[in-house]
Amino acid sequence: MKTIGIIGGMSWESTKLYYEFINEKIKSDLGGFHSCKCLINSVDFAEIQKLQSEDAWDALDIIMSEAAMSLEKGGAEFIILATNTMHLCVDAIIKSINIPFLHIAEATAMAIKTKELKKVALLGTKFTMEKDFYKKILSNNDIEVIIPNEEDRNIIHNTIFGELVKGIFNNTSIDKFKKIIKRLEAEGAQGITLGCTELPLLISQKDVDIEVFDTSRIHAEKAVEMALREI
Ligand code: GLU
Repeated sequence: MKTIGIIGGMSWESTKLYYEFINEKIKSDLGGFHSCKCLINSVDFAEIQKLQSEDAWDALDIIMSEAAMSLEKGGAEFIILATNTMHLCVDAIIKSINIPFLHIAEATAMAIKTKELKKVALLGTKFTMEKDFYKKILSNNDIEVIIPNEEDRNIIHNTIFGELVKGIFNNTSIDKFKKIIKRLEAEGAQGITLGCTELPLLISQKDVDIEVFDTSRIHAEKAVEMALREI
């Protein structure tokens, strides 16, 4: 089993989920007393969130690269970044390390293709929904991506930062998300990508009929496949 290097803490609510998902899959794949070999470099999300709100991506590139390098030095054999938004720093991270990096959007694109869907809606922070870095990877895989209208993007972004990253989950927000998802379905979405690692804490497949892609679980499970693959 390879040692997974996880850059986490963005937020810790979702890093906790990654740790669970990874260990659940190790347990179901290997059984017995097995658990994952991993290192977690968990950053202080307050520093990250401040820099995100200032659009200080150069400073974030440095923090993410340093986290990745420390994991490599500590013995990680490949790296995952346990947040969708911070994949904006991927180029800098990849340049700074000599071990593989498993991209969350690549893992998600593979899962969507397995279900043979052609058009999905992307929910996440405004950075993820509005910038190109994430949608580009899905479209390079022949997946058409639509995003919510501006009002709905604000609702989603404010719910992520005002509630989910703080561990607050309420039914009113679930109802708002269900309505947003219905509108996207009416626009032709065949699937919903939960492109924010905290979203599965609020909404999941049991809440809606449309196919849901939970990027935290997909990414975590791909990481286990990579950890157990022989090369
Ligand atoms: N975890 C979130 C994501 O997957 C949002 C927190 C962040 O801004 O990094 O995008």
